[in-house]
Amino acid sequence: MNYSQLFSLKGKTIVVTGGTGVLGKAFVEGIVSFGGEAVIVGRNEAQGQQRAKEINDAGGTAFFVKGNVLEEKEMEAVRDATLAKFGKIDGLVNGAGGNMPQGVIPPEQDIFSMSVEGLQQVLDLNLMGTIIPTKVIGAAMAKQHGGAIVNISSVSSKQMITKVLGYSLGKAGVDCFTKWMAVEVAKRHGEKIRVNSIMPGFFLTEQNRTLLTNPDGSYTERGNLVIKKTPMKRMGKPDELIGALIYLLSDASQFVNGSDIWVDGGFVAFSGV
Ligand code: NAD
Repeated sequence: MNYSQLFSLKGKTIVVTGGTGVLGKAFVEGIVSFGGEAVIVGRNEAQGQQRAKEINDAGGTAFFVKGNVLEEKEMEAVRDATLAKFGKIDGLVNGAGGNMPQGVIPPEQDIFSMSVEGLQQVLDLNLMGTIIPTKVIGAAMAKQHGGAIVNISSVSSKQMITKVLGYSLGKAGVDCFTKWMAVEVAKRHGEKIRVNSIMPGFFLTEQNRTLLTNPDGSYTERGNLVIKKTPMKRMGKPDELIGALIYLLSDASQFVNGSDIWVDGGFVAFSGV
């Protein structure tokens, strides 16, 4: 037997929502490195087009489609544009998500005066922003030969992180949805579709930069607390997520369904003592 192609994505078309973001960049570059065709989905057209151009110029295959993950019609347009271009969809990475200032409850604010609207917005982005693309793109995959879906969770779904209630609720919902969907699709569609998740620890990106770092780049008190609670004593680098992603998208994880890979430097395992 030769297992050297087990992790190959050659000829596979993978849709990456939030492919315009910091972690999304690593996801897209990882997919292309392993031979896949990346469909970058996001709201920032200039960023998305530029990212696709860089990959195509370097000999890879990437395609940008503008789309808001909270709008079902826009996800249908992403599906249609992808099928028109590549004729198939083999994978979906639900990378769009993150925190929003309106969903953060600072310590000086009375906890009972939290903004329900702000909470709802961040909860929706992370949970509905995973469910809606899965519904639309997953259906297209089920109609064809199937594929792999990878959701992006967070350590905030496993351990309570102060201030970010909406985000934590959204990611806890993502964990539930991953397992629920994994069970349902396997029961209804057999082995065609698998649904798993990656749980990143702390990675410095746009959506958390002001919470974790000061304008001069030094860590905030919160940033320092993260380092203290991480046995590896640092934040993650985006490309450290690529291994887990390729594993879950490729045939290497053919019998893996409903699982969650922790890429957190030991954050969740450590009690803090
Ligand atoms: P990021 O802000 O750099 O990227 C998120 C991307 O999603 C951005 O390009 C943003 O424009 C896009 N996006 C936001 N709302 C959207 C919408 N409605 N429709 C389409 N696109 C939308 O942040 P990131 O840290 O790279 O986040 C990527 C994913 O990883 C998120 O789900 C985030 O919650 C998760 N995550 C990040 C960390 C971390 O430490 N950075 C940790 C755990 C989980």
